[in-house]
Amino acid sequence: EDELAAEGSDELSARAAVVTVMGHVDHGKTRLLDSIRSAKVTEGEAGGITQHIGAYQVHVEHEGVERGLTFIDTPGHEAFTAMRARGAKVTDIAVLVVAADDGVMPQTIEALNHAKAANVPVVVAVNKMDKEGASPDKVRGQLAEYGLVPEEYGGDTMFVNVSALKHLHIDELLEAVLLTADAALELTANPNKAARGVAIEANLDKGRGAVATVLVQSGTLRVGDNMVAGTAHGRVRAMFDEHGETVKEALPSRPVQVLGLSSVPRAGDTFLSTSDDRTARQIAEKREAVERNAQLAKRRKRISLEDFDQAVADGKIDTLNLILKGDVSGAVEALEDALLKIDVGADVQLRVIHRGVGAITQNDVNLATVDNAVIIGFNVRPAERVNDLAEREGVDMRFYSVIYAAIDDIEAALKGMLKPEYEEASLGTAEVREVFRSSKFGSIAGSIVRSGIMRRNAKARLVRDGNVVADNLTIESLKRFKDDATEVREGFECGIGLGSFNDIREGDSIETWEMREIPRS
Ligand code: GDP
Repeated sequence: EDELAAEGSDELSARAAVVTVMGHVDHGKTRLLDSIRSAKVTEGEAGGITQHIGAYQVHVEHEGVERGLTFIDTPGHEAFTAMRARGAKVTDIAVLVVAADDGVMPQTIEALNHAKAANVPVVVAVNKMDKEGASPDKVRGQLAEYGLVPEEYGGDTMFVNVSALKHLHIDELLEAVLLTADAALELTANPNKAARGVAIEANLDKGRGAVATVLVQSGTLRVGDNMVAGTAHGRVRAMFDEHGETVKEALPSRPVQVLGLSSVPRAGDTFLSTSDDRTARQIAEKREAVERNAQLAKRRKRISLEDFDQAVADGKIDTLNLILKGDVSGAVEALEDALLKIDVGADVQLRVIHRGVGAITQNDVNLATVDNAVIIGFNVRPAERVNDLAEREGVDMRFYSVIYAAIDDIEAALKGMLKPEYEEASLGTAEVREVFRSSKFGSIAGSIVRSGIMRRNAKARLVRDGNVVADNLTIESLKRFKDDATEVREGFECGIGLGSFNDIREGDSIETWEMREIPRS
């Protein structure tokens, strides 16, 4: 495969940028994709009929030059993340759609985090400008807080106010996409070699067999070529573009629907064309074997809180990536705030790569897979199939209902000493003989130590007639006559104060205990 890739890498030509549209549900991703498609794809087409093939290319006049842009026609970042999880880099640039009447919403941020994690530049389409209550400035202000500072505020993110419904400022948006792409990227590929690229979507058609839309990323794909896509192989029998027209060849950044594969590849599978049928089949078989092994190897490679210190010691890792999910945004924020306050020292770093409200999703697991992250769930659980996926991919998921417990575990992992296990160990018991009320100290239990010791600052519980009246108390004051004592042993009298706990009675017994580390075997 690598030999095939290396061939003729010096003849680079310009190619179209590949764009993914992301954003919160109902903010207008689908409508925007429709609007761009109908404004551009059908220009000059008789009847203006377009086919949905999972991606389309438009042509935009920019500074007197005709330029292409390829849009991935499946809105939302699920497809995007799924592809990344399979190792495919498809998107050059992301359009983040935000409805101007609704503003920034959870999935807006989620989408933004995905784009950031993939290092993909973002253009913001402030949509629904035709609506009453549209507040584009608010959207700018909100996103600036997340690091997308609008150009007009001195930042480097382009924001364009649009209406997908009324087709307003779509050209300006496309222009902004081109400008951003040009500023950030080198958009070239070599068309003069065997084709390579990625499968974007695929399905099994009753009449036509496996139908796959592929995006050519380099080289040229031609009818009659032999190809491998994922673990599927075959000979390109026919190709169609987004108008449903047959095409003979596809250059870099061109999406085409391909017929002729032996089976259905998955979104994100890479493809390549080969000189002959035998090579294609061999590569497909090899990929199948590699995939099986990778599945096993992958599981061992993923980071977990337990392994983090070892991985650091081995020099394999220095950043603990976390994905935080919680039932309410306040909890997620509190958790993140507390995490960011952990003093991690100079050698390691903590990075929250994604946070969100709601159940743990497949998407979260995919992201954890890509960025080798641990998922922290606060009062949320994953659906069963999400659990299966995490299991398969070896992603460490942790569930907590107390923020401190989460912080403790993560802090321990970062400091290379994952929390040892503790057990309760009894220190001693004392019998209460008399209770004094002091206005300053509250109740003081005049007691005699019956067994073991009483120790200042030790944990205590109060037992009355065999029942625990209160637990998890602390011996806040301990006195022998008038002097403070740190410990009082069996047979001696002492005065015990349990802090603000005052319901102590004659005849009660006070048991003290501490948590002791269980030695690890
Ligand atoms: P998606 O979930 O992000 O794909 O959102 P859709 O494209 O399905 O749009 C959600 C709803 O918002 C639909 O009812 C659209 O007609 C409507 N919508 C989308 N764009 C606009 C717009 O620019 N203006 C108005 N008024 N409505 C819009």
